[in-house]
Amino acid sequence: MLDLLPPGEKRKQFELRALGLRDFAGVKGEQPLDPFALAEFARLLVVDFDSIEGLSAESRAHLLGEAADQWSGGACARPLPNGWKLVILNPAHGQQRNRATLMEEVAHVFLGHTPNRLAINTKKAVAFQGTAARDYNHDDEEAAYAVGAAALVPYAALRRFVIRGSNGAQIAHHFRVSRQLVEYRIKVTHLWAEYKRASTTRAEHV
Ligand SMILES: [Zn+2]
Repeated sequence: MLDLLPPGEKRKQFELRALGLRDFAGVKGEQPLDPFALAEFARLLVVDFDSIEGLSAESRAHLLGEAADQWSGGACARPLPNGWKLVILNPAHGQQRNRATLMEEVAHVFLGHTPNRLAINTKKAVAFQGTAARDYNHDDEEAAYAVGAAALVPYAALRRFVIRGSNGAQIAHHFRVSRQLVEYRIKVTHLWAEYKRASTTRAEHV
């Protein structure tokens, strides 16, 4: 049976790409997708932040402390000699946000995006500052984020959860992502009204 697709031509295209990624990863229906398993196929080497050399204790404290909100991580634009790319994830953001960040990097690779400039390397991780970490053009960034999010929280499964009356936290827990990502998916796939209606029903049953 064909999976249901969300409304909107652009959204449908993103969903189809995401379903292709899920298919490639061997996950079905409501199963959560593990981006770490896909990273290998995308030839992305996820590097533990703590193992980065060349960062002073002060820089490390800054990146995980007051600057922790200003970077989520990303891939180095220049591949290693063996063709792999390094990815650094912000440990201060926790597993759920790390999974979304990594999934976006995986999506860039699977969508065949080309970085539009040389980006930071591990020794210059200090350069991660807000939007300075954007390494692809706007359309590619939009597509990678949208496809990555759809691969993590696919529409047909999300719709079933919403109709069943699951709340954002429950859906997030199931897919091992943040509640913010689930709410973003509910909004862009036009399930928000249904979600609110179900939450009203939930409240009445309490
Ligand atoms: Zn990106």
